[in-house]
Amino acid sequence: MVTILGIESTAHTFGVGIVKSGKIIANAKDSFTTSDGEGGMIPIEVAKHHVSVKDEIYSKALSDAKISEKNIDVIAFSQGPGLAPCLLEGMKFAKELSEKLGKPLVGVNHCVAHLEVGRSVGAKDPVMLYASGANTQVIAYASGKYRIFGETLDVGVGNFIDSFARYVGLGFPGGPKIEKIAKEGKYLEIPYTVKGMDIALSGILTNLKQKFNKKISVEDLAYSLQETVFAMLVEVSERAIAHVGKNEFLLGGGVACNSRLQEMCRMMCENRKDFDEVKYFCPERSLLVDNGAMIAYLGEIMFKAKANVFSPNELNNVDILPRQRTDDIEVSWR
Ligand code: AMP
Ligand code: MG
Repeated sequence: MVTILGIESTAHTFGVGIVKSGKIIANAKDSFTTSDGEGGMIPIEVAKHHVSVKDEIYSKALSDAKISEKNIDVIAFSQGPGLAPCLLEGMKFAKELSEKLGKPLVGVNHCVAHLEVGRSVGAKDPVMLYASGANTQVIAYASGKYRIFGETLDVGVGNFIDSFARYVGLGFPGGPKIEKIAKEGKYLEIPYTVKGMDIALSGILTNLKQKFNKKISVEDLAYSLQETVFAMLVEVSERAIAHVGKNEFLLGGGVACNSRLQEMCRMMCENRKDFDEVKYFCPERSLLVDNGAMIAYLGEIMFKAKANVFSPNELNNVDILPRQRTDDIEVSWR
């Protein structure tokens, strides 16, 4: 039995999760938010947030798991990709714990963690639509790596939604607010930009802003944004499923909390029954958004495979990797 502590700090969320032999026993977190107006995420400010909550979140995770820190065998942390100031605070905390407890450190890729935690709900070899703030990718395993079959050519879908929400004065994060007001809206045509297996969002953002300035109702814009952009995500996901021939589909990332996106993905999987059975998997909300449990979950898998594991006297060799790509990782554990 190994007990792994996972630390997440790539962006707005500081999270500490604990996993014991494949079972998630704690998932504590606190996220940086702003209220109304145009305030967004300033990396240095977010990093300060992480420093201010880290001790409290760590204690909460231990008490939720009903263990003491002496029971921790391994520390895992999000090594990248992400905002450098935020990643640095997570790594600093992870190294301090590794040193203090004399336990090994595992550097984990955040995007791969979103995918691997799908195992906890039964997804063993899925095509994943990873729809989060900064990242939007369609990922699946092929010949030793997690390959990106499609992705955004500009901004992540969550950041795109947040930018629009900020522009119309809804504050950050905008996703849940857009979802709510979309229920009151009706469809109007906006650009649909799928390019091969990739999508582009910045042109759509400009178009939405122009329409908002022409006094088109924000409810209609929110509804049309969801119907159009989610259809783009579903289209590239389905094409990836058809090409790579997998029979599992997994959702990940904060935008996957959106019930309309979930519904559209579930429908796509059901409608593919005529070709091949595709099982639909969507973890609970707390595992979709950024969280420490998924870092601990992949940390355990990597620790057992001796992948990217460092002993407490090797910590000087460990650094953050803000621009690490999903397909940089050698997947030695499959
Ligand atoms: P992550 O970076 O994976 O933690 O996800 C954060 C992003 O998810 C932010 O951009 C949020 O606006 C977005 N998000 C959260 N809930 C929803 C929702 N219900 N609908 C759309 N986007 C959402
Ligand atoms: Mg994420």
